[in-house]
Amino acid sequence: MHLSQVRLNLVYKKMSDINDLRNKMDAVTLEMINLLKTRTDIAKEIGEVKKNIGKGVADEEREDNLRGKIMQVSKEIGLNETLASKFLNFLLNESIKVQSENKQTHLSIFLKAKSLEQKGKKIIHMEVGEPDFSPPEIVKKSLSEVFEKGFMKYGQAKGMPIFREALAKYVSEKFNTKSTYENIIVSPGARFSIFSAISTLLNPGDEMIVIEPAWPAYKDCALNAGIKVRTINTTLEEKWEPSIEQIKKVINSNTKMIVLNYPNNPTGKILPEKLQDDIIEIVKENNLYVLSDEIYSQYVKTNWKSILSYNYEKSIVTQSFSKSHAMTGFRIGYAIADKKIIEQMAKLEALCLTNVSEPVQYVAMKALEEDTTNNSKIIQKRLDMLSEKTKEIGLEFTIPDGAMYIFAKINQKGFDGVEFANNSLEKGLAVAPGEGFGNYKDFIRISACQDEKTLMEGMHILGNIMRDN
Ligand code: PMP
Repeated sequence: MHLSQVRLNLVYKKMSDINDLRNKMDAVTLEMINLLKTRTDIAKEIGEVKKNIGKGVADEEREDNLRGKIMQVSKEIGLNETLASKFLNFLLNESIKVQSENKQTHLSIFLKAKSLEQKGKKIIHMEVGEPDFSPPEIVKKSLSEVFEKGFMKYGQAKGMPIFREALAKYVSEKFNTKSTYENIIVSPGARFSIFSAISTLLNPGDEMIVIEPAWPAYKDCALNAGIKVRTINTTLEEKWEPSIEQIKKVINSNTKMIVLNYPNNPTGKILPEKLQDDIIEIVKENNLYVLSDEIYSQYVKTNWKSILSYNYEKSIVTQSFSKSHAMTGFRIGYAIADKKIIEQMAKLEALCLTNVSEPVQYVAMKALEEDTTNNSKIIQKRLDMLSEKTKEIGLEFTIPDGAMYIFAKINQKGFDGVEFANNSLEKGLAVAPGEGFGNYKDFIRISACQDEKTLMEGMHILGNIMRDN
């Protein structure tokens, strides 16, 4: 046989080998798809049962158990453990997605309240975290200057340089840090900064620690980006403080970020300084990102220290004009981080938004000149009043150290916050069910975002409902 024919035969043989292997791989993949369908159906069934017995979606203990078994098997069969863990994270997230479809949060109650109002019902809104104050007067005036100042065109993704300069100065003075404009990215609300930090700094299969109760968007952003959330459940009995052991226990080679939010929504908690210092130590030891959502820093009663003051290069702090300047509808916030992180976040912002509206950036820059400490005093006074009333009604809670909420436990057998929030609407009161913030079915969140008289009326309705139950 001619030499070239021999070579050709060899190539044909190899091709046929590849085809055999490909067919095998396809068969395995198809089998996996069939198994995925079976697994998803089972997850749905479990979701239904959990709903009926009032159990939360995620079960960290069971997940840990399974993770342990998978690590063991991976060792035995020689599969890379990080890869196995990432694959497991994908599967666990899919189950959570399937089971979380009808989760009710403060937003769903708000929307129901709005539609009842359209039908003429009077509702007292104690479910949403939206300050009832007007934005500072200077915002109104500066809106009319936008044309003559020429803030009407496309701009830089990270934000207008003069605004970033102004924010850097503001942040440095307020939070005892040395930030420059390079450390700032402007975003349409803190929500987008949070989405952007999670989506750009982490990869699918990575893990992120969330301390609950927590604002639900951290978890939702992670789920959306294929990131596995490791939840730490804190309790009222432990004054909403996570233990260092709890945090250490969930950290593994896939853990990339921890989310902190103090003053906290919904509990109003501020961590004791020593505990916060210890958490940052662990974060540094494990080279994690720390995403610290500090949008309630304007509303603090006790000592509070920004994560910026640790000068840790893997920290991202989010801030917003929504709460500090009552500018929720303007959709304007920002993040403060190392300039390399800002560069990464800016790529996503350019892709999604081009830039934040320049007129809005301009008025927010002007709002920085205004002193809003009076708003903080008003919220504090209301929280004191709400705390008194909550005590009178007989609910269990910890006095908030800051933020704008009271997270209270209703000590009644079989109590369900979602049912309660829906029934309260009929009586003219909207409160947020605890379930929106984690596995806290027997809690409700009451917010201090109405004038005192309205809040008193709301608490009166709440007291009546409690008595009738
Ligand atoms: N973080 C927390 C803890 C919040 O409660 C909220 C809004 N309620 C946000 C972020 C979002 O704020 P923004 O309006 O700036 O997007």
